[in-house]
Amino acid sequence: MALAVYNTMTRRKEEFRPREEGKVAMYVCGPTVYNYIHVGNARAYLVFDIIRRYLIYRGYEVRYVQNFTDVDDKIIARAREEGKTPEEIARFYEQAFLEDMRDLRVMPPDVAPRATETIPRMLEMIQGLVEKGYAYAVDGDVYFSVERFPGYGKLSGRSLEEMRAGERVEVDERKRHPLDFALWKSAKPGEPAWDSPWGKGRPGWHIECSAMSLHYLGMGFDIHGGGQDLVFPHHENEIAQSEAYTGREPFVRYWVHNGFVNIREEKMSKSLGNIILVREILKKYPADVVRMLALQTHYRSPIDFGPEALEDAKRAYERLENCLFALNSYLTRPHARTAPVRTQRETELSDSFLDYERRFREAMDDDFNTARAMGVIYELVKELNTYLQEQERFPTPAGPVIAGMGRDLLLKLCQVLGLFLPAEEVEEAVFETGRGVESRDVAGLPSPEQLIDLLLEVRALVRRKKDYETADLIRSRLKEMGVRVDDLREGQRWKYVGKP
Ligand code: AMP
Ligand code: ZN
Repeated sequence: MALAVYNTMTRRKEEFRPREEGKVAMYVCGPTVYNYIHVGNARAYLVFDIIRRYLIYRGYEVRYVQNFTDVDDKIIARAREEGKTPEEIARFYEQAFLEDMRDLRVMPPDVAPRATETIPRMLEMIQGLVEKGYAYAVDGDVYFSVERFPGYGKLSGRSLEEMRAGERVEVDERKRHPLDFALWKSAKPGEPAWDSPWGKGRPGWHIECSAMSLHYLGMGFDIHGGGQDLVFPHHENEIAQSEAYTGREPFVRYWVHNGFVNIREEKMSKSLGNIILVREILKKYPADVVRMLALQTHYRSPIDFGPEALEDAKRAYERLENCLFALNSYLTRPHARTAPVRTQRETELSDSFLDYERRFREAMDDDFNTARAMGVIYELVKELNTYLQEQERFPTPAGPVIAGMGRDLLLKLCQVLGLFLPAEEVEEAVFETGRGVESRDVAGLPSPEQLIDLLLEVRALVRRKKDYETADLIRSRLKEMGVRVDDLREGQRWKYVGKP
């Protein structure tokens, strides 16, 4: 079965065929760094994190680029309010964003370019557009001429006339068409500015993303993502600039847009004043619960956000957590080591595990339908809970084998979606923020290292009592988890070597 992706450009699901076999080049519009991000923004980054993880699970080599818009009117305004430089504001909120992403367990991008570090590429593009007659300069500003680009409106599905009537665009005498947009803005005194053929100034927002995505991924890359509010004008303008500049199409093969997080039917947004910050939510709920919120709804549908939605997500998460906990505690109990002869029921159950994974894949292949994929996971949870209850009453020799298979499958499917990530993956996502480990020491919980040490203490004790069966069990279970235990003359030593 092929993977199908809904393409905003064609307004239908299409079979996913990347530019280069086995590889996916992906660009997601990053934050404008002038404030802390809210739950609506978080949804966008979670959605594309889930899509990225699924593509990796599907065997693709994914290159993921996400920019920082670190020069912008809003950053300049914020700097003025706070008596800081725009650069100070940008660096501060860039750091805050990295921390929020780490705390949400979003994989860091392969490349995270800053707009201010890609200015030469933007100037090259703007100059090219002027030379080709797609752009014009007026008093130190440069505008893109939308009428010169015949495909303008193809992403949002509107003609120039419709857009002109629908949008409240301010009349600017200097523009040839009201929808012409700035590629370059002349600098006012005190604003950040770079030299250009049109005088000192700074780039417009749209050209930033075109320049950065083309520079790092090249023309015709596979997936361009962002929230639905970016379709027009941001992505429409990116297409116009990039296709006009290169003289080729398509700029992007698949346009993917996530739905909004709403509060009482209104989009969560700073301008409406109804935002809830990610860092506030993460004080009350674990990252996985916030992720569950994104997973339980299809990524293109809206999410109605509120205390109930979070409590629902929390309950659903606990169902998974309880099942994994029950499986793990069952599996760490000592079991008789007899030949694992399976009952008929157990043979059927273990055969059905393959079927669960197939159905999970089928759901995700259908335009990343995480809601359906979660449904498959819940069914598996139910099945495993029933099996564990049966084992409590009528233990069978193959119990630990079957429960182990079930646990591994459940964990694997959850981890494809970014849930229950092992500690080492979280480690990888830690950016250099200086906050490092202590923020993960939630409420004094012991670290995995402390727990392994404790297990080895117990193992030393049972060995002294000549209970080698238990000692071996501890060692082999740790080995399954990637921890190798060596018995040396001076005692035991352990090392994390990765899963066998
Ligand atoms: P911004 O910093 O406003 O450009 O937003 C960053 C990302 O979050 C973009 O992909 C937006 O489309 C997305 N976004 C903003 N508000 C919401 C919302 N309420 N729900 C879902 N996505 C949003
Ligand atoms: Zn963008």
